[in-house]
Amino acid sequence: MTPFESVNLFFTRAADICGLSESTRRVLSVSHREVRAEVPLRRDDGSLEVYIGYRVQHDNSRGPFKGGVRYHPGAELDEVRALASLMTWKTALVDVPFGGSKGGVQVDPSGLSRPELERLTRAYTRAMRGIIGPGIDIPALDMGTDAQVMAWMLDEYEELEGHSPAVVTGKPVALGGSPGRTSATGRGTIVVLDELMRVRGKDPAGTTLAIQGFGNVGSWAAKVAVERGYTVVAVSDVEGAIHRGGGIDIAALDRHATEAGTVVGFAGADPLDGDDLLTLDVDVLVPAALGEVIHHGNAEQISADIVLEGANHPTTPEADEILASRGITVVPDILTNAGGVTVSYFEWVQNTQRFRWPEERVNDELGLVLSSAFHNVHQLSIERSCSLRDAAFAIAVGRVAEAAELRGAL
Ligand code: NAD
Repeated sequence: MTPFESVNLFFTRAADICGLSESTRRVLSVSHREVRAEVPLRRDDGSLEVYIGYRVQHDNSRGPFKGGVRYHPGAELDEVRALASLMTWKTALVDVPFGGSKGGVQVDPSGLSRPELERLTRAYTRAMRGIIGPGIDIPALDMGTDAQVMAWMLDEYEELEGHSPAVVTGKPVALGGSPGRTSATGRGTIVVLDELMRVRGKDPAGTTLAIQGFGNVGSWAAKVAVERGYTVVAVSDVEGAIHRGGGIDIAALDRHATEAGTVVGFAGADPLDGDDLLTLDVDVLVPAALGEVIHHGNAEQISADIVLEGANHPTTPEADEILASRGITVVPDILTNAGGVTVSYFEWVQNTQRFRWPEERVNDELGLVLSSAFHNVHQLSIERSCSLRDAAFAIAVGRVAEAAELRGAL
């Protein structure tokens, strides 16, 4: 099953719960538009590479398309298509007035110099110029891209189209980015975890977390988790993993990772095999790196009570069923990692209003949006005796279907 087929399986279950008509199902189960473009790059040594870039726009019934741009060798069309559809469901679930899209370039950014990364970003922006824009489709950061990449994207677009700060989100604050955007996705994962703990009458103290990925999402999830009293016992990145049963000093790890470029070699913890992190006996497992890392081959070995999906689509449908049958709660990606797009929406609002919010307001409003989304999902999962994922998709699919049908095209 391809990633898009997997996501569509979740969509179909939700469509059944919502009783969607055949025509609405057909329209919402394919992308609105898919662009594949050549992205040429002049390397520093003068040679020319040609990469392939994509922008997939899934649905815009509820507002402009919205979704990040991923630089990763695995950013193939089907993967980008799956991620674009997830964005449609995610923006609907947290009720921000956007649709869903995603972009990607099949490249390993770690093999490029900063000037090469800048030229690649400018080439990708030129290639997608006609289909992005503040009221059309608003890119943001994702795996392999960061605030600096967004700054180059903004600059290239403005060279072509004039002042348009709302064309990308996740920009540096100095260029109209929102305070709190960098931390938003990781912070949001922990806001959602807090709500789940609250309804279960449990306390963060003594609750252990293992986090796969120490990039934007994983590192901020770790920092906020520790601030709120959780204990992070294991962390990994692409180079390897580390473990300390009594809890890792995340501030010290962050300093180490900034200097060394990896969590590996951190003196305050023991080395661990990357795959073993997933099966550690912890309370909460937070996949915050790649997709489909929990699959039929390892789902039986997952020992956590809760899987908090910081990454997009980290659990395959087969694994989802295995985890459910073993009584493991999966908090779905479209809820858990929706903090990023929520604060991206706040950034876009600030750009269009030409008015900046203080970070405290951003974090407070993020908390309100995610707590409310969590409680809606939790309530529906009780009413329908279904998983949190089915409840989350049902709410999202119902909202998108209503908007699409009201527009009259179906
Ligand atoms: P990032 O590029 O900042 O960090 C990715 C991290 O994953 C790095 O630490 C990298 O070393 C690690 N990693 C890569 N391959 C790995 C492997 N095989 N094993 C262990 N670790 C590995 O990316 P990010 O922005 O933190 O995104 C992570 C995930 O969260 C992605 O699935 C992304 O789509 C999703 N997400 C990100 C945002 C956001 O705002 N950045 C929002 C929603 C969802």
